[in-house]
Amino acid sequence: MTAYLRPRDLDEALAARAAHPDWMVLAGATDLMVNANHRAAPTGILDLWRLAPICFVRAADGEIAIGAGATWLEVERDAAVCTHLAPLAAAAREIGALQIQARATLGGNVGTSSPVGDSLPVLLALDAELEVASVRGRRRVPYREWCTGYRTTRLAADELIVAAHLPLPGPTTRTVWRKVGTRRAQSISKVMGAAAITLDGDVVIDARVALGAIADRPVRIAAVEAAVRGQRLADAAHAARAAVGPAIQPIDDVRSTASYRREVAENLVARFFHGMMQRADR
Ligand SMILES: Cc1cc2nc3c(=O)[nH]c(=O)nc-3n(C[C@H](O)[C@H](O)[C@H](O)COP(=O)(O)OP(=O)(O)OC[C@H]3O[C@@H](n4cnc5c(N)ncnc54)[C@H](O)[C@@H]3O)c2cc1C
Repeated sequence: MTAYLRPRDLDEALAARAAHPDWMVLAGATDLMVNANHRAAPTGILDLWRLAPICFVRAADGEIAIGAGATWLEVERDAAVCTHLAPLAAAAREIGALQIQARATLGGNVGTSSPVGDSLPVLLALDAELEVASVRGRRRVPYREWCTGYRTTRLAADELIVAAHLPLPGPTTRTVWRKVGTRRAQSISKVMGAAAITLDGDVVIDARVALGAIADRPVRIAAVEAAVRGQRLADAAHAARAAVGPAIQPIDDVRSTASYRREVAENLVARFFHGMMQRADR
């Protein structure tokens, strides 16, 4: 029989995680239930759904902290997230339909670490840090170091994800998000990405450009970031398009061919910069 625990607080959750590292950690269960019938029953379930200490969205000290247990609906409806972290709000709105968004959590997206996890390129582009905890203490992991391979992460067997910390972008940094799927809504991404672009007038001073669904994990595209630095936005769009193709090796799978993904990725990054130009014109 499967054991079941719904802890009352984080200490109880961490003690259970340390005592039973083989138990299934469950939040909204929107990823876990998909394969439930094809998997052996877990020896135990640690149910974190609505665990209060990890269900929050908080703006303070130049950052927004989002608890692992916050749902995508809570994220997309938070005023500070909408104002300062628009790409995260936009990604949240495109994670499944409303029913999924009301149940699915940030911790679950980061915990599954699927290459098509929609929030993941946003966390990269916005330079997020993850806070994880165990009975041994707390630590922070820069999100760019979190993914170690296909659906594998730096989370230790006795740890739980507590929160994501996202610094507020500076006044001259523009951010953008875009997802391409089979249809406009409720689709699994073929390619998606996010960027944070710091401008001096219409000149790119710095850029973080991240794509998902083109490799075994979400990736920053360093070649694009280097190619656009110091360029005017109009030239940056061309430079970004030229740099992205040789820098990526998209996956070929049931959803798309590698060549289609490459073309979409080129269009996507070019549009990040082109779109900024139109915004700067206004
Ligand atoms: C119909 C449908 C549509 C979907 N559409 C999208 C989509 O468009 N885009 C997208 O990105 N995803 C989509 N998903 C996937 C899923 O909804 C998201 O990945 C979601 O964020 C998972 O959150 P959850 O709380 O349900 O995770 P769960 O299923 O509860 O857990 C997922 C994983 O994370 C781990 N985990 C969860 N919380 C913690 C924690 N605090 N500490 C440690 N580990 C933890 C679990 O152990 C498990 O391994 C869809 C799913 C369904 C069923």
